[in-house]
Amino acid sequence: MLDQAQRILKDVFGYDAFRGDQGAIIQRVADGEDALVLMPTGGGKSLCYQVPALLRDGLAVVVSPLIALMDDQVATLEELGVSAAALNSTLTPEQQRDIADRLRRNEIKMLYLAPERLVQPRMLAFLQRLQIGLFAIDEAHCVSQWGHDFRPEYLQLGQLAEFFPSVPRIALTATADKRTREEIVQRLHLEKAERFLSSFDRPNIFYRIVPKEQPRKQLMAFLAERRGDAGIIYCMSRKKVDDIAAFLTEQGFPALPYHAGLPNELRAFHQKRFLNEEGLIMVATIAFGMGIDKPNVRFVAHLDLPKSLEAYYQETGRAGRDGLPADAWMAYGLQDVIFLKQMLNNSEGDDRHKRIEQHKLDAMLSLCEETRCRRQVLLAYFDEQMPEPCGHCDNCVDGVQTWDATEPARQALSAIYRSGQRYGVGHLVDILLGRDNEKIRSLGHQHLSVFGVGKGLSEGDWRSLYRQLVARGLADVDLEGFGGLRLSDSCRSLLRGEVTLELRRELTAKTPKSAVSAASQLVRSEERETWEALRTLRRKLAEEHGVPPYVIFPDATLLEMLRSQPGTLGDMARISGVGARKLERYGQAFLEVLQGDAKVVRSPADIRHELITLARAGMTPAQIARQLDCSEKNVYAMLAEAIGQQQLSLEQALDLPEDLLSEIQEAFLDGEGELPPVAAVAEQFAGRVPEAVLFCVRASLQAEFEL
Ligand code: ADP
Ligand code: ZN
Repeated sequence: MLDQAQRILKDVFGYDAFRGDQGAIIQRVADGEDALVLMPTGGGKSLCYQVPALLRDGLAVVVSPLIALMDDQVATLEELGVSAAALNSTLTPEQQRDIADRLRRNEIKMLYLAPERLVQPRMLAFLQRLQIGLFAIDEAHCVSQWGHDFRPEYLQLGQLAEFFPSVPRIALTATADKRTREEIVQRLHLEKAERFLSSFDRPNIFYRIVPKEQPRKQLMAFLAERRGDAGIIYCMSRKKVDDIAAFLTEQGFPALPYHAGLPNELRAFHQKRFLNEEGLIMVATIAFGMGIDKPNVRFVAHLDLPKSLEAYYQETGRAGRDGLPADAWMAYGLQDVIFLKQMLNNSEGDDRHKRIEQHKLDAMLSLCEETRCRRQVLLAYFDEQMPEPCGHCDNCVDGVQTWDATEPARQALSAIYRSGQRYGVGHLVDILLGRDNEKIRSLGHQHLSVFGVGKGLSEGDWRSLYRQLVARGLADVDLEGFGGLRLSDSCRSLLRGEVTLELRRELTAKTPKSAVSAASQLVRSEERETWEALRTLRRKLAEEHGVPPYVIFPDATLLEMLRSQPGTLGDMARISGVGARKLERYGQAFLEVLQGDAKVVRSPADIRHELITLARAGMTPAQIARQLDCSEKNVYAMLAEAIGQQQLSLEQALDLPEDLLSEIQEAFLDGEGELPPVAAVAEQFAGRVPEAVLFCVRASLQAEFEL
């Protein structure tokens, strides 16, 4: 059996070896037994049911809660030469009938279904008349009422055990906690399932947490090394999402906003673009969550603190599903702590609930202030012991220095106490530094005994100290919500000198040795040209087939082509990720790129494609010109062309004031019959509007009226 599985792995999927428990899981399910699979994101869960599906007779039914992902999965399978289909509400009745017919004729090997669809009596009856090879229940944690993703329809999936007692079932999830696990077993009747629990470590992710100083500047420094990479940036509020997306686009990083305040269609459109295009940044609130299956997300950045380690793990986990190096980067500061603590105080819910949430936030905060290996601490929170520090996080790589902060901490607490426990950090720091300003004077704070005692430390040091005091619960944030600090009960022993306090020393901005992690060095500069050529070909093929680029080949496969330079189709077949069907379809084309025969390196068509992408992302012509390394004049000419062919709207291409736009439009539409040439109206706008802009407006009118 395992031999056969191995053959399928190579022939169909193009992979050489099973990863982790995959082999054992596949054997179990192929033998007709149940399995519960707990594996982190990117661990390779899909193969665990796709290979047995091909080994067993009959139809494999895959339950998945996310319609958007189903199409992706089906496209991926079809590209591999496996006949698959998804039945969902987006299909017309005809399309549904067609799928039903093909199912009756046994022409489909894998069927994707939403849970509510599967448990309809008609559907169950229909399936009972077919031969079913297995059931796979993806995202099985959705059955848990405790989790975030609870789906009531999942509860009904327990029926499968009764209706199909002899069909093996495999449930899969990336949520590992014990409670969820037990609930899955119980509610899905998986008592006989063998459990496969993998490590939840994501070794390819590099973790870094930095103190927030000038977040935009820090973000730009982080992104500067990651130009052209796809990534997700999480922010707390919708407004901040919009602001950051606009800011990044302005800075030449194509970015899209995503939050619950946007119209549904726009959100769906942005998501689709994120999946289909390369190198886009999604700036999002946590509304951008489940269902992000894009494997080559190279970084996840947090500009605000998540409220628990569960959330942090899940959100950062969206990076690097393809197993290639990826980054989890976060900037965090005192404001985050204050904000989250206040939110918690003001939240609904009973005391017990609040205590749990408080506990979760504290765990998150202690990860931020951690002096040990971040990965060890993160995994320990999920009950997984890691014997050695990982060597792949900021603390391991940079080292952490600590200092004895006992005395300054007492001064800082004293400043809170003596000023009446109601002022925010800015004012407290002014007191400690002995600053002579109006607020200090009007409050008479220059007479406090702590006034000016802190001149030995910098403003930054004091702010960092306050942040750490709050994070450690030695100071509290006021409940009224003005950000004032109070003493907490737990600071007494420190004030009385009974305990000492060791804190982390902040690295100054330039110190980190590993500011550039491995991700950006994925491709060396001398390889860049060939790499781009491979990506360009992939993008073309993806467009032709109407699938995201990674469905043609994942980055890892492209990278292996780049490194091993196959010279023949035979060599190509040995590359991981090149199965028989893909070899036949695409092998030759990629060989030619590698041999440099096909000069696909930025043909005019490619440049045009990129131009459209950038313009849609909101870049100005000047920015596009810089990005594409060509003249602005050229950019305008190409924009006009794209507008004329209705690939771009005028609004996407240019940002013109509305009244000016209508003035120009009127000038063109003034006469009868044909649209006048630009030269005819140019004089009227001389000195006000560049001719290049007039060409664009004319092209849009032409497209609109098909003149
Ligand atoms: P999950 O669903 O657990 O997040 P996926 O099934 O999407 O993970 O797999 C993640 C990536 O790893 C995919 O690109 C997949 O093709 C790849 N992969 C899975 N198993 C193997 C394997 N045995 N060898 C090589 N690549 C694999
Ligand atoms: Zn580490």
